[in-house]
Amino acid sequence: MKNLNTFKLIERISTLVRAEERKKLAALGLQPIHIQVLDYLNSCNSYSNTAAAITEYFGLTKGTVSQSLLVLERRELLEKVQDSEDARIIHLNLTAKGYELLALVHADDVFAQAEQAVKNQQFNSIDNALLAALEALQKTHNAPSFGSCATCINFDVEDNHYLCSVTRLPLFQAETDKICREHIPAHAA
Ligand code: SF4
Repeated sequence: MKNLNTFKLIERISTLVRAEERKKLAALGLQPIHIQVLDYLNSCNSYSNTAAAITEYFGLTKGTVSQSLLVLERRELLEKVQDSEDARIIHLNLTAKGYELLALVHADDVFAQAEQAVKNQQFNSIDNALLAALEALQKTHNAPSFGSCATCINFDVEDNHYLCSVTRLPLFQAETDKICREHIPAHAA
């Protein structure tokens, strides 16, 4: 996976994190946006805990945000409180149940696992640090590596031709840089 650049690596880590998050939230009957909204409300100040601010922050439509807020309110994870000075402003506050849920969801936070994986290690580039984090997360979650031929245990060269030992078929040069679902990291052997 050495040929992945910084942005690709960030995207791969995010994809894995979101996939793990989706699995966890599905068991709770929630979607990632619900936790993202609770996370936002947990970190914003009292000028910013409104539906309009959430819409602006996530770049979502008002309708989508209203639907999410409805679910969170019904589940008693947040409550609406009218502003004491301006009755037109409705603040959205986390309930005790909302804080509990956030603590539960972040108990084995995947981002924290990624951070742990690279902690106290020396890397000569941001890409190498991100790659180490990605590989550690894939290992922890038994996620497929989706790497390319150069780092695969099944990559062979015979008579100056590239070969995949899984399919026993020749590989064209252009194919060897692409990601593959059958990839097994050579260092995992
Ligand atoms: S399994 Fe996939 S990544 Fe590995 S050598 Fe074959 S084609 Fe390449």
